[in-house]
Amino acid sequence: MTGVFSLLPEGRPGLLAVPGDGPSYPAAGRTPPAEPDLLLDRIAACGLRGRGGAGFPAAVKLRAVRDAAGRPVVVANGEEGEPGSVKDRWLLRHRPHLVLDGLRLAASVTGAARGYVHLSDGQAEQAVRRALAERPADVPVEVVRTGHTYVAGEETAVVRRIDGGPALPTAKPPRPFESGVGGQPTLVANVETLARIALIHARPDDAAEVAGAHLVTLSGAAGAALVEAPAGTHLKVLADLCGHGRAEAVLLGGMFGGLHGPGWRDLPCDHDGLAAAGGALGCGALHFLHPEDCPVAVAAEAVTYLAAQSARQCGVCVSGTGALARTLTAVARGEANDDTTSQLRRWSERLPGRGACGLLDAAARTVATLLTHFPDRVDAHRGSPCRACTAPLPHDGRRFTVRVP
Ligand code: SF4
Repeated sequence: MTGVFSLLPEGRPGLLAVPGDGPSYPAAGRTPPAEPDLLLDRIAACGLRGRGGAGFPAAVKLRAVRDAAGRPVVVANGEEGEPGSVKDRWLLRHRPHLVLDGLRLAASVTGAARGYVHLSDGQAEQAVRRALAERPADVPVEVVRTGHTYVAGEETAVVRRIDGGPALPTAKPPRPFESGVGGQPTLVANVETLARIALIHARPDDAAEVAGAHLVTLSGAAGAALVEAPAGTHLKVLADLCGHGRAEAVLLGGMFGGLHGPGWRDLPCDHDGLAAAGGALGCGALHFLHPEDCPVAVAAEAVTYLAAQSARQCGVCVSGTGALARTLTAVARGEANDDTTSQLRRWSERLPGRGACGLLDAAARTVATLLTHFPDRVDAHRGSPCRACTAPLPHDGRRFTVRVP
């Protein structure tokens, strides 16, 4: 990890990440109370979107919980399942007051009677407990520790864990805003979303800038970094920042946004821009593929990792991710023929949307984008593997794993 950078103009307030160690948000003192409707209007006006992966408008989610029947509950979700993402653990370890202030504000907007912080990281837990002791919350806040898995941060898995069950997704509907923790309407908000709500409240004049910036985890053979990117930043700028300028492709959104080849440099680092290009920003993790990396090997490792992480609750996910992983590995090993790639194409079109969570979609999108953007590289494996694919293809996600700075 090469560090935490901010690409926001120097001296601008509202930073989540700053060069050096100085926190940009006070660790002591109380946040002024919010006028709930005014804050909600501000969040809506600046267009803040959730940072857990789906990019859903934050104000819509807050309003849905506020207006549902029952006594709302708010949850700060800091469990990031993507091995290539570190932003949520970094925030909890280094900006716990910011996240907790966001949780308090979310409680005030929704009228929640209690809150939870859901996490798996031990250092993050210590930082949050310290912060709660320094500055007790207006509503009771409980810290709930979970195991670290790919699906433990999915919103229905979070509700199930807080209710005392395993951190595994459940079928939707109902969604947590309808029936969540203890059957009450529940806001499950990513910790970066909450941090940005706290900043929007503290610095309303900078709301648009705060809402437009993203914490992005960059990784690849040249190194890793956590970066705060302002709205409109192109992927080329992020790649150049930590030595990925030679990269030929990028895996977007952790493992959720697919592989993208020629043209990736001009893509903007935001939900709409990447969606228009057939990708997804997801949790904001970008893994760059350098000339010595093989997109077939990277796709096979990603899908094999996802198959191993399947919660094995949905039959279609167990069989679908398993079949995709085995078949893609066969392609990497030089054992593909026309039928193999046609079969992969069919599965990648039919499987999305059929699991209870997004894991199956992530695997299918990885395969679909490999076939769409790298047909020549796939064909080049006919008969014999490339050099990268002769090496063992790990299933534990180690290629994508980044250490928290
Ligand atoms: S889609 Fe897969 S990972 Fe998601 S809940 Fe179903 S079995 Fe579990």
